[in-house]
Amino acid sequence: MTMLHSPTLHNLGSINLDHFYRVPHLVHPGETLASRSYHVGLGGKGANQSLAMALAGGQVCHWGRLGRQDAWARDRLARAGVDVSHVELVDEASGHAIIQVDDQGENAIILHPGANHGFSRRDRDDLCEAAQPGDWLLVQNECNGLAELLECARHKGLAVAFNPAPMSETVLEMPLQACRLLFVNRGEAAWLAGLPETSDAEILLEGLNKKLPQTATVLTLGSEGAWYQRDSDRQFQRALPVKAVDTTGAGDTFIGYFMAALQEKREIGDCLALAAHAAALGVQRPGAADSIPSRDEVTRQMD
Ligand code: ATP
Repeated sequence: MTMLHSPTLHNLGSINLDHFYRVPHLVHPGETLASRSYHVGLGGKGANQSLAMALAGGQVCHWGRLGRQDAWARDRLARAGVDVSHVELVDEASGHAIIQVDDQGENAIILHPGANHGFSRRDRDDLCEAAQPGDWLLVQNECNGLAELLECARHKGLAVAFNPAPMSETVLEMPLQACRLLFVNRGEAAWLAGLPETSDAEILLEGLNKKLPQTATVLTLGSEGAWYQRDSDRQFQRALPVKAVDTTGAGDTFIGYFMAALQEKREIGDCLALAAHAAALGVQRPGAADSIPSRDEVTRQMD
């Protein structure tokens, strides 16, 4: 008997531990400063997006690497419904951020990619072997070996969604034509299209379409909403008028919910609306992973 395969999304992405220190001021050179409080949270664009997709009810398999001592982060993803069978525990430091936040809300961050930069050729081959043609591959720009992964995904016939964040020179050297869908904010769109960041959204979308005519784009503009573009088809989704307290991870929540809705074969307009409602709930709470709402909360808000 042939088993019907339900398309899965494979997310090869970062898992970070965010260490937050509340300080009276950002530490000066040579100074030793006592922090007022300490909190460690789950972060990393990859983990946030997998978490958001699972909370939205999507089927997502995360491919990641994490220091052995931080297995709690893997458990947290698993509890949310993420398939973590390909999150490897390794004898390396996990990716982590040391984040100082002062009384004015200003921050200073040291980011160490750690295990997120230890993907091997074998890891990429394993993913391409495990994925079925028609499955989605989602990637961000916080792990190593992405150019090779995109090539391998193209050969396997995977549908690739790429969120080139944080943007870097290396993105311009990647085989971006392999991507079916690109998630970019204003700065990333401007960089990719080679246009000023102050350009109108329409100009940015035109520039991206010229550069990557085969690739659909979701351009997110914070409180100004989001655009979807595929060839000449453009759709706009307004952002919800809410009082934002912390917009960290808004893009990740948006992407996870959008991909979950796409997996449900919803119309693009519905995918955008669900994603915008989820992100609007998230920005009203502090934190990244901790601010991602459940599908029930989002549905209640949309009723
Ligand atoms: P990050 O890198 O912090 O994850 P991003 O720059 O990738 O964010 P944004 O464009 O800032 O992503 O936001 C993504 C989506 O989240 C927006 O399109 C919008 O729907 C929602 N959003 C962001 N900020 C706000 C806000 N202040 N009010 C309402 N919705 C917001």
